[in-house]
Amino acid sequence: LQHVLRVKNRVLGPGTTSGFSSSSTSASQRLAGKVAVITGGASGIGKATAFEFVRNGAKVIIADVQDDLGRAVAAELGGPDAACYTRCDVADEAQVAAAVDLAVERHGKLDVMFNNAGIGGDVSATPLASLDLAGFDRVMAVNARGVLAGVKHAARVMVPRRCGSIVCTASTAGVMGATGPTAYGVSKAAVVAVVRAAAAELGRSGVRVNAVSPHAVPTPLAMDTVARWFPGRGPEEVRRIVEGMNEMVGPVLEAEDIARAVVYLASDDAKYVNGHNLLVDGGYAVSKTPNMPAAPGC
Ligand code: NAD
Repeated sequence: LQHVLRVKNRVLGPGTTSGFSSSSTSASQRLAGKVAVITGGASGIGKATAFEFVRNGAKVIIADVQDDLGRAVAAELGGPDAACYTRCDVADEAQVAAAVDLAVERHGKLDVMFNNAGIGGDVSATPLASLDLAGFDRVMAVNARGVLAGVKHAARVMVPRRCGSIVCTASTAGVMGATGPTAYGVSKAAVVAVVRAAAAELGRSGVRVNAVSPHAVPTPLAMDTVARWFPGRGPEEVRRIVEGMNEMVGPVLEAEDIARAVVYLASDDAKYVNGHNLLVDGGYAVSKTPNMPAAPGC
């Protein structure tokens, strides 16, 4: 109960005021000369990562299904020299292969594959007894099979060069139960499993594969999901609910925090990091409080 009340207070209370800057330290060009494909790069975490990548000297290909947004992001990033957009539905393997091939055609190589595209799925699918298995298949096709396709085709062009970094977006929902819809959690656990299997194989060829697991960031995906849980709430309230899902007091989790973690995993700073699942969750996944009355004086 105390835990529930604490979360409720955080959600309904006066919101977290961080006093922490959301801006990064100055660009260090940690990805200078690298070429990256970012699936789901038109919005949210993928978009923030595209900006961090370019700021750090990479050229990026935004691969998404939101054509107008994707093109706008590419233009904002500085146009063809820095970024371009290509339509790519990650549920279609041929489109994933084409996005990878585009990187090689335009820039001669692929250094970084960020398999980040994802969907939340149908929240009304919970409880399990009424799980819609067709909806489950759709979530798995995008979130898990789409990631596997990205790993496969990145490996196709990276292994011959014996270098490259593949980063896949999982989630705290992939390591804990009950933080999202069932299909979503299963799909994200599958992402972690894909990363481990691929890292074991591809590490022997000099290609690293890692996961990044965010907790709640108020992107369209998270906002839409929570808005469906709490019908009738306005965008600001929904944003507060999403932000209140986090545990850490002080800093507020932002897409840029995930982006900087991805820059690290993509860069040579992480040259010996392989098969890791980097949780960016402020300790959420380790912060379950004991189910017992508060000790006197606490
Ligand atoms: P978002 O909605 O802002 O971005 C998701 C992007 O993926 C969108 O641009 C969308 O068009 C694209 N996309 C969806 N289906 C696609 C498909 N079939 N092919 C290609 N692109 C597709 O949401 P986000 O939060 O930035 O999501 C990015 C990733 O982060 C997802 O994998 C999501 O599951 C994961 N994630 C998000 C949170 C969170 O709280 N926001 C937490 C944990 C994990």
